[in-house]
Amino acid sequence: MEVPYFDLKAQYATLREDILAALDRVCRTASFVLGEEVVRFEEEFAAYCGVKHCVAVNTGTSALHLALLAVGVQPGDEVITTPNTFIATAEAISYVGARPVFVDIDPATANLDPERIEAAIRARTRAIVPVHLYGRPAQLDPILAIAARHHLPVVEDACQAHGARYRGRRVGAIGDIGAFSFYPGKNLGAYGDAGALVTNRAEVADRVRMMRNYGQRKKYEHAYLAWNRRLDTMQAAVLRVKLPHLDTWNAARRRHASMYDELLAGAKLDLPRTAPDSDHVFHLYVVQADGRDDLLDRLAQDGIRAGIHYPIPIHRQEAYRVRGFGPGSFPVTESIAPRLLSLPMYPELEENQVHRIAEAVTQFAATSDLRA
Ligand SMILES: *Cc1c(COP(=O)(O)O)cnc(C)c1O
Repeated sequence: MEVPYFDLKAQYATLREDILAALDRVCRTASFVLGEEVVRFEEEFAAYCGVKHCVAVNTGTSALHLALLAVGVQPGDEVITTPNTFIATAEAISYVGARPVFVDIDPATANLDPERIEAAIRARTRAIVPVHLYGRPAQLDPILAIAARHHLPVVEDACQAHGARYRGRRVGAIGDIGAFSFYPGKNLGAYGDAGALVTNRAEVADRVRMMRNYGQRKKYEHAYLAWNRRLDTMQAAVLRVKLPHLDTWNAARRRHASMYDELLAGAKLDLPRTAPDSDHVFHLYVVQADGRDDLLDRLAQDGIRAGIHYPIPIHRQEAYRVRGFGPGSFPVTESIAPRLLSLPMYPELEENQVHRIAEAVTQFAATSDLRA
């Protein structure tokens, strides 16, 4: 029996009737872009996050891009972020014409290291974008303190961390703006591309609402050049069916993670660490192992699909190499990249599957020269 790396079909089986009813509702009203379902979803997601405003857009990347524009980032500016993330975080910065300035990560969390941020702040620095990678909250309090000292807005990339809490509050709701992706494989996923921003700042929400819709103030009255970054009504309808299940699904992910923790405690691997002041929602369960590629092959032979997030740090991507980040620019990020391995993780994963995976990993660790 194959164990996939995530399984959206299993989830659909549990939601089928509600999803089909929601899609039918959209088809019958024949409202396919924005509309009532999008407004309702925005209200529900804002309430879930504990913020005043949510603006739904077409992708998580658009949410990041429009967030940076809304806090005033301009061409030629610099934006601080982590090199250990999905490429979209950096690309959103580049879309504005600004320059991503990478700051190395804290090896304990794999997230932006607050201790290193201040040294990277220069005259053109205009924002900080921490990423809650793998669903684990970044260390927001120290980051916000630095941002406040330098009058910089904080845009949280919460694209992997729907529902995670940092010191009691939902991530995305803590900085100036939080950006979410609802790509199908995320903890809260649509049935296509989708995204949203959340904020307590009314002027930011108003501006983003215009920016996602051709800079339109009123019908055929355009205040500035903008884009079409609207959310489809169908996606909002699907998200409305799924949102009430998010906490239950995240709890299931946490249960699988504790089971992995327990079963793998003796294996020679670095397991993901959680912090007492935050709760990880395990978008990914990422271990670090020497001999990672051999372990990946071994798991594949057993029909277990694992992943790597991410094999090439952003500053070593061809797309960003022209900017002159040589090997060794961000040593912590570079040292973990060849050791990262994401074990299967999704709410519907079964206990016996977790046991099977842990057994395969443990056997490999015992018979190879793995050193943690
Ligand atoms: C998924 C993701 C994005 C981009 O979201 P899309 O909806 O795919 O555009 C941005 N940042 C991170 C960390 C992500 O995981």
